[in-house]
Amino acid sequence: MEQQKTADFIIIGGGVIGCSTAYNLANQGAKNVVVLEKGEICTGGTAKSCAITRSHYSIEANMRHAVESVKIFENFDEIVGGDPRFQRSGHMILGSEDFRPQMEKVFRMQNKYGIDTHALTPAEANELHPLLQFEDVALIGYESRTGYCDPYLTTTAYAQRAKDLGVTFYTGTPVSGIRMNGANKTLETPQGGFETPTIILAAGPWTHALGKMIGVKFPYEISKHKVLTLKIDYPYEKDWPIVKDLLTPEKIYFRPDSGGVVLVGTGDHGEPVEDVEAITDEVEMEHVERIGKRMANRMPAFADAKLVRSWTGPYDIPPDWCPIIGPVSGFDGVTVAVGFSGHGFKLAPTIGESLAQQILGTEPRVPIEMYDMNRFESGKMMHGAYGIGTLA
Ligand SMILES: Cc1cc2nc3c(=O)[nH]c(=O)nc-3n(C[C@H](O)[C@H](O)[C@H](O)COP(=O)(O)OP(=O)(O)OC[C@H]3O[C@@H](n4cnc5c(N)ncnc54)[C@H](O)[C@@H]3O)c2cc1C
Repeated sequence: MEQQKTADFIIIGGGVIGCSTAYNLANQGAKNVVVLEKGEICTGGTAKSCAITRSHYSIEANMRHAVESVKIFENFDEIVGGDPRFQRSGHMILGSEDFRPQMEKVFRMQNKYGIDTHALTPAEANELHPLLQFEDVALIGYESRTGYCDPYLTTTAYAQRAKDLGVTFYTGTPVSGIRMNGANKTLETPQGGFETPTIILAAGPWTHALGKMIGVKFPYEISKHKVLTLKIDYPYEKDWPIVKDLLTPEKIYFRPDSGGVVLVGTGDHGEPVEDVEAITDEVEMEHVERIGKRMANRMPAFADAKLVRSWTGPYDIPPDWCPIIGPVSGFDGVTVAVGFSGHGFKLAPTIGESLAQQILGTEPRVPIEMYDMNRFESGKMMHGAYGIGTLA
């Protein structure tokens, strides 16, 4: 029989949140940290991510994490170590007159945090991105610091740096049960038991299954998000700004991707699913045609674009589209980090840092207490200027 292993801290989940937290715990001096991952590192939602790092958020806490995280992405090798392939491209947001108050509010808040957001004329915008047309657009916002990364290289860079600092990773090790024995908890896996006083639940959309093991229902739902890559006869340049198009019903966004193609996702709720395992990569032709039309409206050169690739991935979405982070009430030594909706990649650097600080008992550099899961009962749900959604 396998001998029970022990650890001071066990993180369940080797996505970008689990790996950033593991690195930050070790970097802040924690010893004997273990990560348990059911598959390989970066095979969950992070593997499907578009990995955009925009800071256009109307909720100040989210914006602050995005702004501080982009500083880490920009200098990743110096601060963490490794290459997440951060490509700075800038971010353009396009709105109708109806969106002007919210957009201008966010621009002012971004300026307060040192982000250079300002309005552009269509001619100025075309100098940055020659394919866009703006006939139906009332307001164009632009900031220069947003970019995008490779989600796999980012997550494995965090994992590698965590290993360098002494963290042990067990891949192919699904947690199938959690037993609470007072201060100590035993995690059951097919490879044997792991005993620890401190568990961090970072299993993305799979966190419901872990919640069931301790009798807690975390307030988030799962939805399926579709991504397409499209190409035309000439390369889509890698430094053309990422575009968020608020004039489309699906609130599409698009960015350059490797191989001279454009990658397109949607900022809507997506298709709700009960079980994350039921999600397949299938994307219906109706979706491809509809999104293709939106792209051709925004960029006439895309009228005859070809589909290159398509895939889907899960969002874990709390009622206010903001993450749930912090101690799980009634369960000493159990912390959760879930519900990142469409934001988890860009927020991961400072969420991992602040979560490690909270767990180790120091003041988080970038506050996270507002993400406590009790906010839903205590009337402190977070409200964004755009209402509920990815710009929360
Ligand atoms: C299509 C798509 C596009 C996106 N685009 C962006 C974007 O442009 N910018 C942005 O900021 N965010 C984006 N997101 C959101 C972001 O990618 C996620 O919020 C983030 O990657 C979530 O990371 P995670 O570590 O919480 O979860 P995951 O990456 O899902 O990691 C959880 C891990 O836990 C493991 N696990 C599950 N159960 C167990 C168990 N019982 N035992 C052990 N291990 C277990 C899983 O195998 C998985 O590896 C996007 C998401 C999707 C789906």
